[in-house]
Amino acid sequence: VLAMEGVRHAFDGLPAVKGVDLHVAPGEVVCLLGPSGCGKTTLLRIAAGLETLQQGRVSLNGQTIAESRKRHLPPEKRNVGLAFQDSALFPHLSVLQNVTFGLKQLSGEARTERAMGLLKQLGIAGYADAYPHTLSGGQQQRVALARALAPSPALMLLDEPFSSLDARLRDRIRDDTLHVLKQVGAGALLVTHDPEEAMFMADRIALMRDGAIVQTGTPKELYCSPCDPFVVTFFGEVN
Ligand code: ATP
Repeated sequence: VLAMEGVRHAFDGLPAVKGVDLHVAPGEVVCLLGPSGCGKTTLLRIAAGLETLQQGRVSLNGQTIAESRKRHLPPEKRNVGLAFQDSALFPHLSVLQNVTFGLKQLSGEARTERAMGLLKQLGIAGYADAYPHTLSGGQQQRVALARALAPSPALMLLDEPFSSLDARLRDRIRDDTLHVLKQVGAGALLVTHDPEEAMFMADRIALMRDGAIVQTGTPKELYCSPCDPFVVTFFGEVN
């Protein structure tokens, strides 16, 4: 569903992404894993269209959506769902209204049905009429996920979506998110610095260091057949 080829990006002449090739198949969850500052977020922002592509090509469902400064489809036209660490909800809208907001093409009834279905799947249907400020961080994060999933995007882009949550809650939301992603069949690119999270969530992991991908493979492949001492070190803390 997503193909990034030869992607390079620099900030003020300083390279942040140094020639990355990355693919996400339909329904596949790919984790971009790596230490702070290695370029994960930049790559995700390029896929989202929040950063103009400087070099390379990005395609979605076989269609080129960005190419070396020549072509740039804006984020709202990319059919991608975005959920970031601090995804802000609309404070003046209820939970249900937050989720139905992006569903303008559906009739009122179908909109509500779709939103309620997602809220139910994420275990927060009981809060449909509540306002964001009355919810816990975990509940807000679930609403943000439901909102991103609502328009049935071909691809979900998630940047550390669970990192502001406490450990117990995080495990539950990871579980539920993975379940919903698999159920709706959306491909996902998920940024994390946490090897444990990547091992749990990913069909494939792309491990980055210093703007480049060191190894791509299933969690088992990276864990059992590391191609570089860096991979071993990075997974060293996971038991
Ligand atoms: P983290 O997990 O800490 O968010 P990351 O792997 O997502 O790290 P990026 O945020 O993509 O890394 O940053 C990659 C490099 O690009 C870093 O050196 C960072 O300082 C730099 N960088 C990122 N955004 C900008 C920006 N808007 N302006 C200048 N430099 C930037």
